[in-house]
Amino acid sequence: MADRYQSLAHNPIGKFIVKNLGLPNPPVLERWSEGSPLVKGTVLIGAAPGSRLGKKLAATLKSSGITSVGVRADSKTYKGLVFDATGITDTAGLADLQQFFTPALRSLASSGRLVVIGTLPEQAGSETAAIAQRALEGFVRSAGKEVGGNGSTANLVYAGIGAEDALGSTLEFLLSPKSAFVDGQVIRLGLTELVDADPVADPAKPLAGKVALITGASRGLGEAMARTLHRDGAQIVGLDVPQLSAELEAVMAELGGTAIAEDITAPDAPKVIADAVKKAHGGVDIVVHNAGITRDKRLKNMKTENWNLVIDISVGAPQRITAELLERKLIRPGGRVIGISSIAGIAGNNGQTSYGTAKAGVIGFVNDLSKRVAKDGITVNAIAPGFIETDMVKTMPLGIREAGRRLSSLSQGGQPIDVAEAIAWYANPGSSAISGNVVRVCGQALIGA
Ligand code: NAD
Repeated sequence: MADRYQSLAHNPIGKFIVKNLGLPNPPVLERWSEGSPLVKGTVLIGAAPGSRLGKKLAATLKSSGITSVGVRADSKTYKGLVFDATGITDTAGLADLQQFFTPALRSLASSGRLVVIGTLPEQAGSETAAIAQRALEGFVRSAGKEVGGNGSTANLVYAGIGAEDALGSTLEFLLSPKSAFVDGQVIRLGLTELVDADPVADPAKPLAGKVALITGASRGLGEAMARTLHRDGAQIVGLDVPQLSAELEAVMAELGGTAIAEDITAPDAPKVIADAVKKAHGGVDIVVHNAGITRDKRLKNMKTENWNLVIDISVGAPQRITAELLERKLIRPGGRVIGISSIAGIAGNNGQTSYGTAKAGVIGFVNDLSKRVAKDGITVNAIAPGFIETDMVKTMPLGIREAGRRLSSLSQGGQPIDVAEAIAWYANPGSSAISGNVVRVCGQALIGA
């Protein structure tokens, strides 16, 4: 969907008006294209004294093909600033953040990246360390709001004890333009017993040999996910309602994928889907429960059938389908189950009680299932999109639509590719220590914060 305001703000007259009236000026976000380097520039690394990662950090970046340095030069600009804060053990130690970032921020390129790495507070070893580590969240959330004007972002990674070698896929994602719309987020590695990264044979096709089932794949975010996971080497099984089977088949034909025309709320859907993936590929590696709808009305005007439908599509059916796939052992070891929540499921939204309930249920699904399937090497995570330019947001009243776009650190909506790249990051074999996470792809929207 077109963002006319953003186009206007970038033409000469528009630029003049926006500047003089103090209106939001949405930056042009850099996005990754196939064949480009992951990071177009150098990353500056800093560390608090006594930090756990030590030389590992530079080595991890090097093996991802990312150039980094440990000493800042005044004349240089940096595409990323990464700070290992695992050594911070009390609040006085938080001064190390300021000492690293304050001078370095003057050398940050546009669409730059701030990444802080900490230790999961519950594993920090002492009360004072846990408090200081928790404080890192406030740092990245505020820093993200300060650097958004030039398309830059700030995010925090908590590396659980034992997950120090599993940071590669996450740093690649956060430092590259693949995370253009991921801002102010906290990513937790090693929340479950899974702390290792699985090897990636071919970084250009990290999902080679994997099969991905995506619901709601004929358009919008689901279609972008299908294209992106296919780009990364996966074979795609796309599902959508029978009414959209022509559109779905067209997308699947382009990707050499398999189409399933089925309503996920149908009583036989779990069996139909499990039979189809078994027949096509003998099983599945990545399951993305993307299908979702809104039937927004204030609670006092809510119709029971709409309430039930919204909740069953977003969270009831995904539970039944996952249970059937697990029961029949069709999700292979190293598998990924990925839900789609929403910022409305985190913060709630006026007129969206059914949707907010359904999407908070997706978070409950992640919390519960991630613990139960860790022993089988399967991860369970969700993405909570903010305002993303798809058909779904076309139905919003203009005022709410504009607020959704502008009230964020990046003052614009995201693109379907932004959500799809986050799904590809979860799906990457290198992300096997990431489970039980809900990460927003929202440009740090104020609604939903
Ligand atoms: P969309 O309406 O463009 O696509 C949703 C797809 O799901 C459609 O193809 C639809 O046919 C399919 N679907 C709906 N009900 C189904 C059913 N019963 N069985 C099978 N397929 C079904 O919407 P989108 O914007 O691409 O949204 C995708 C997901 O992202 C949804 O879960 C949505 O709630 C979530 N989301 C979107 C946004 C946004 O800003 N676009 C924000 C937050 C969350």
